[in-house]
Amino acid sequence: MNQAAKIINQAKKEGRKALLETEAKTIIAEYCIPVTKFKLAKSEKEAATYADQIGYPVVLKIVSPDIIHKSDAGGVLVNLKNAVDVANGYNKIIDSVKKYKTDAKIVGILVQEMAPQSTEVIVGAIKDPQFGQTVMFGLGGIFVELLKDVNFRVAPINVEDAKEMITQLKAFPLLNGYRNTPPADIDALVGILCAVSHLVMDQPEIKELDLNPVMAYPKGAKTVDARIILE
Ligand code: ADP
Ligand code: MG
Repeated sequence: MNQAAKIINQAKKEGRKALLETEAKTIIAEYCIPVTKFKLAKSEKEAATYADQIGYPVVLKIVSPDIIHKSDAGGVLVNLKNAVDVANGYNKIIDSVKKYKTDAKIVGILVQEMAPQSTEVIVGAIKDPQFGQTVMFGLGGIFVELLKDVNFRVAPINVEDAKEMITQLKAFPLLNGYRNTPPADIDALVGILCAVSHLVMDQPEIKELDLNPVMAYPKGAKTVDARIILE
């Protein structure tokens, strides 16, 4: 059995519908979707060791089955530049999360590579009651939330479908090179969309998938946050 199926079965056995970021990223990496390097720390000392291994700057994030939106809980710290900041950050996140939700179960703190800032895109999937697995693409922030500038296609999709989902966005010029911003690697984004389509077709128990954000670079792309919800 592959990793994805194993992780999904284990979560179901434990009665969890929302996968942890570690689990979601392990699954998407198995489908060749690029993700930030990450390691799960269980103590501040371990966090500092992992940060040394990954290389600075790093990002720390809460891993808890009870926290879905990590930033809202004070569960994300970015741009930590040395081991002391990482050790302090470890405790700071745990304090914030406990204040936010007293009884939150804390699995650990995820130490991850900090992806350089770039144009943020969102790749998603949702199981529509009528059409089944459906893949989504949009640009991050206001483009999705305010302007609803997103495109959907029923899965499975092919390379041509994926290209259209990207190039037919109103905000596409932002990905195609704009003022000082170089063009994004559209083929890399097409690859991620096709891989997501493949994943949700393989794993029908995925009800929602959300890669938010994916950093789009002139060469390649990198998933910074991943969420998977099961049926
Ligand atoms: P959530 O969506 O659960 O609040 P995220 O993991 O998306 O948490 O983190 C919040 C924000 O922090 C992201 O939208 C991104 O801007 C930034 N961020 C998170 N992880 C990284 C990373 N590894 N590298 C760079 N930026 C990151
Ligand atoms: Mg996010």
